[in-house]
Amino acid sequence: VSPLQPWTPKDASAPTRLPKVVGADVPVPLEDGRRVPYANFDYAASAPCLEAVQEAVTRALPYYSSVHRGAGYASQVTTAAYERARETVRSFLGAWERASVVFTRNTTDAMNLLAHALPPGTTVVVFETEHHATLLPWKRAVRLPAPATPSEAIAAADRALAAAPQGPRLLVVTAASNVTGELWPIGELAQAARRRGARIAVDAAQLVPHRPLDMSALGLDYVAFSGHKLYAPFGAGVLAGRSDWLRAAEPYLKGGGASASVGESTRWAADPQQRHEAGTPNVLGVVALAAACETLTAAGWDALVAHEERLLARLRRGLARIPAVRELNLWGERHPRVGIVSFTVDGWNARDVALRLSGEHGIGVRDGKFCAHPFVRRLLADRPADRSGAAHAAGEGGCANASAPDSAVRASLGLGTTEEHVDRLVDALGELARSAG
Ligand code: PLP
Repeated sequence: VSPLQPWTPKDASAPTRLPKVVGADVPVPLEDGRRVPYANFDYAASAPCLEAVQEAVTRALPYYSSVHRGAGYASQVTTAAYERARETVRSFLGAWERASVVFTRNTTDAMNLLAHALPPGTTVVVFETEHHATLLPWKRAVRLPAPATPSEAIAAADRALAAAPQGPRLLVVTAASNVTGELWPIGELAQAARRRGARIAVDAAQLVPHRPLDMSALGLDYVAFSGHKLYAPFGAGVLAGRSDWLRAAEPYLKGGGASASVGESTRWAADPQQRHEAGTPNVLGVVALAAACETLTAAGWDALVAHEERLLARLRRGLARIPAVRELNLWGERHPRVGIVSFTVDGWNARDVALRLSGEHGIGVRDGKFCAHPFVRRLLADRPADRSGAAHAAGEGGCANASAPDSAVRASLGLGTTEEHVDRLVDALGELARSAG
């Protein structure tokens, strides 16, 4: 079940009706005043909402009411929907029955909640390849350099956990990189952690929109993800996992809902799902997130993965035909990945590429270091210099020092992506690369 395995469809004859996203072809203005359908290649930042998610929110709206404390009918309906969403997420993640599923604002919030709940003296082991949400929240972390291979990742984690001081130990790792899309060997890393008496927390923000995840089968102690990357609107995320540390920790936020009784002193709710969800929760965000989980599951992963792999292969074939475009990969071109590709264009800085794609072609990509500064710096530093060797003057569409780019362009795919989008991106990049030379 390791997500690292190449995808093998269980049922190749399964119908391939993909869920639709809202606004897939929304018209966007170009610099010359024309309007074209938007080609969205920024799913890894935030995916558009699914139509089924929009419908679920519309169905929930008439019962708009606060959860847990009201006796009114609307409150009962809303509470039931909120708690049902928790069970949907539990089964979406393959979490065991007694695992806690705490609703947070997003992955960043989930990782910070976990950091807050660590027993005193916990040593955290983390790779420098992580998104900042997963790299930064820890008080006491051993930071490992980017490993040269997946096996080296396992060996390095194993060594660091073995060398950690006595006391609780936690390995924190991403399941799919937000920079390269590469899949990490989380099952094997979980086994390494277990062998060393440590726990593992997985950042699944970029995995769950693209692949199924089975926490129990993989032996993951904690999983975090965000609804807005999973085709639901902003503002709801999840931390799922073992209850003991969460139960023992002070509430993440203090207030109503987290407290069992308040008098001279306060007794906090024992159940982590109440203890760490103080205040009125984002019920509609949670309903939307659960609807996204249900919709993807019902569509079937065979269909979702087949769609993505076909378009990703088309995109990478197209990029490979443009000599100035160079992909960023940690583990080589052939390592399995989700629908994310980051690259540089020789002779161009990433910002100008992104602005041209938007203004002249209606294509939305991301540029920069993708909240993974150490990793992107490492990937850019480790590569041979700009093949063009040309240094284009800043402000003329080029970059001040073309042989040392400090950021990249990222194109990420999803359910609304079409062949026309991919071809438009490849053609636009080809044109741009030629104009730089
Ligand atoms: N982890 C990964 C791998 C991500 O790609 C992101 C967002 O880009 C995050 C964590 C943070 O997600 P959020 O901004 O929803 O907290």
